[in-house]
Amino acid sequence: MSFDYDLFVIGAGSGGVRAARMSASYGAKVAIAEEHRVGGTCVIRGCVPKKLFVYASHFAEEFEDAAGFGWEVGQSSFDWSKLVANKDTEIDRLNKIYMRNLEASGVEILNGRAVFKDAHTVMMDGREITANYILIAVGATPFMPQIEGIEHAISSNEAFYLKDFPSDITIVGGGYIAVEFAGIFNGLGANVTLVYRGEEILRGFDGDIRTHVQEEMVKKGIDVQTQNDVTSIKKVGVGFEVTFNNGTRRETSCVMYATGRVPYVQGLGLDIVDVELGSKGEIKVDTYSQTSIDNIYAVGDVTDRSQLTPIAIREGAAFAETVFNNTPLAVDHSNIPTAVFSQPPVGTVGMTEEEARDNKFDVDIYKSVFRPMKHTLSGRDEKTLMKLVVDRKTDKVLGLHIVGPDSGEMIQAFGIAVKMGATKSQFDATVAVHPTAAEELVTMKQPVS
Ligand code: NDP
Repeated sequence: MSFDYDLFVIGAGSGGVRAARMSASYGAKVAIAEEHRVGGTCVIRGCVPKKLFVYASHFAEEFEDAAGFGWEVGQSSFDWSKLVANKDTEIDRLNKIYMRNLEASGVEILNGRAVFKDAHTVMMDGREITANYILIAVGATPFMPQIEGIEHAISSNEAFYLKDFPSDITIVGGGYIAVEFAGIFNGLGANVTLVYRGEEILRGFDGDIRTHVQEEMVKKGIDVQTQNDVTSIKKVGVGFEVTFNNGTRRETSCVMYATGRVPYVQGLGLDIVDVELGSKGEIKVDTYSQTSIDNIYAVGDVTDRSQLTPIAIREGAAFAETVFNNTPLAVDHSNIPTAVFSQPPVGTVGMTEEEARDNKFDVDIYKSVFRPMKHTLSGRDEKTLMKLVVDRKTDKVLGLHIVGPDSGEMIQAFGIAVKMGATKSQFDATVAVHPTAAEELVTMKQPVS
């Protein structure tokens, strides 16, 4: 049977684009469908614009800190619409690069929504398109709990395009997005309230990291309300009134939900082709990203293995190797280094202390909390935290956790060591780079517990 394409990719985000380009490089005839903009969540409304906003939000503190170094910074002001416009220009540039790269790789870009008709056929704008293999890389979409007035709330998707800068924002959630945006809006001058239903933000991260980040956020002026939740939102005047589960209310100019992201599978026709889904709607795949239907694969957030761009990229590449280069490749999802661009940021790789203990490791914990050198002169009351979780039996560093400036950069390098199975003695044998914050991680002498 002949098909229009060897591979049809649904979704031109990080995973889909990588899979499409690599498959084409192995000689496959490839088309990719995108209903929004080529680039996907990360490039268009995620990691990239978020990081630009994080940079923007640091300046207020930098101006303040400069005084201790002898600088007198004059009157400063911030223009939200200029930031949004400049960010948009950069995103347009990246979007074009993604499209150019796809075309240069010989991938045909189709604008529109693709819906399954059968295991080898999708429908686009009333047209039938057939392919030998179909790769689903449609990503995830914000989950909004169905409380009264939820239609008044925005998600991170809209936060990147707000027409007016909110003088007061209420952010619901305690994960990556809530914590990052709380820092962004706070740094840019908004009054920020973070509402989290649990005891401490960043569930799943090391306990010390969670406590430290929460304390630092409070020090920066963010009102972190834990064990609380919003039960309803009402429009009042130009803003909103939110009611909490303890009955209290507050007025705010913007309500943002960052309560997780769910696989974007609705209306894709997966029921027609019988692709098996998990309890959260995620597409179930094996280690080679193959779904329950032989010729249909899925990569990235839609599989909910790990909602991180570099993982989607790896899964996309492994798919191309497996299917079009005759080299079956499974992605290793262990020891993934990751950063939360909170303020201060978090870098983490490997097991948390809690995980190590739950898994019956006999661990030594090394920990250091100190004032970063810059703040000896700036006078800012901000502390850095560094922590190693070491297996006493093998001396292996099982986990490494940092809260502090540049921790995202540090964790990329330390991630290699942890991935290689480096021991604490090997950390100690590495000469410190002085004066840096990272040197602390190779000079920790005594376990604290
Ligand atoms: P997360 O899963 O990280 O956090 C969701 C938060 O919302 C949790 O605190 C959760 O609470 C809370 N929550 C969930 N449901 C409800 C509800 N019904 N009512 C109240 N609170 C609720 O999701 P995010 O949206 O922050 O981010 C999505 C994913 O995107 C992340 O998991 C991450 O993989 C990725 N991401 C990565 C970034 C990075 O690498 N820097 C940046 C941004 C996103 P609880 O803890 O109690 O479950």
